[in-house]
Amino acid sequence: MAHEEWLALGGKKFLCMPGKLTPLHEASLAARGQNYITHSDYYKTRYWALVRQAVLARDSATCFRCREPASYVHHLFYNFRGEDHLHPETLVSICGACHQIVEYARLAESLLTKIQRRISLCKGFLEDRQGCLDQNAAHVAARLLGYHDELAELEKLFATGTPYKNPRIQSAAEAEAMSERFRAEREAYDKRAMDLVFGWEGSEKERAEKLIPMLEVEIPKVEKFIAKVLEPILPSAERLEKNRQGYTVTKAKSNISGVEALVVGIKFHRGHTDGIVSGESVQLVREPNNAYDPNAIRVNLQTGETLGYLTKEFAAVFAKQLDAGEEIPAQVSKIVRGKVYVAVAAPSGAKSF
Ligand SMILES: [Zn+2]
Repeated sequence: MAHEEWLALGGKKFLCMPGKLTPLHEASLAARGQNYITHSDYYKTRYWALVRQAVLARDSATCFRCREPASYVHHLFYNFRGEDHLHPETLVSICGACHQIVEYARLAESLLTKIQRRISLCKGFLEDRQGCLDQNAAHVAARLLGYHDELAELEKLFATGTPYKNPRIQSAAEAEAMSERFRAEREAYDKRAMDLVFGWEGSEKERAEKLIPMLEVEIPKVEKFIAKVLEPILPSAERLEKNRQGYTVTKAKSNISGVEALVVGIKFHRGHTDGIVSGESVQLVREPNNAYDPNAIRVNLQTGETLGYLTKEFAAVFAKQLDAGEEIPAQVSKIVRGKVYVAVAAPSGAKSF
């Protein structure tokens, strides 16, 4: 239904553009038969209204991050915007407060793209590839320093809980002041970069090559930050208690009401999340002799294969119950970006806490 309306609005996949295009750009898109729509117009379409409604209904209008009531729908990433109904996994319900915070994950995502692109440009320079010839050591070093600062800035904003505000340029004077600031910043980075690579021995290429591993180490740092931003706020003991007293998690494919827990250590156990589907039952197994956590609870797939472990906070809540011989039903509730969440039935008796 939504899709038909979407097609009626103008066709297959729209290209979403941040703002109005120049006539030249518009003409070149038209020549390629590509439709486009601005971001703000996209969110005004009836198509988006329907997608949004469906996502909120799927999630019972509960924020994926803090489990408070949600009234926004957030794109985890934009790749499928314009075909959202085909990719509901890229959309999550979110509350206003979390919405302003998770924006930092998106900014980090674009930082990641910039770093990856810079690595490929730098490699292109080493191979004399067309269009990469200006990627000399000082140029790459200046960019590297910039990425470094950009991540530090995002980390600071996130750590201080600063709500993200979309910067809107209101006047020509503001635009000019901004481009002046960028120019000054670039100059400062160029200078720092010169100081950095000045003493390095070797040819221009040898010096540029040194910077590739330095760029590469930034990647896991940014990825870690993104994961931290998107990570659900772990429930405190009080929150778990509140959940138990009547708040239930209902998911599209989950029939277990209770709390949702992140499975950790997948990387070290199963290694990947291929083949795992939401709704699939998992088994919680106590590991009283675990060297790292006496409350450790392992999460097994139906096949008996180890998926990972519950986080310490959750393990502390459920360990006693399992030790008392109770079975705790659990199933996969969602899989987001290689992270698996399980819905764990809330403890039955108050004494379990
Ligand atoms: Zn929230």
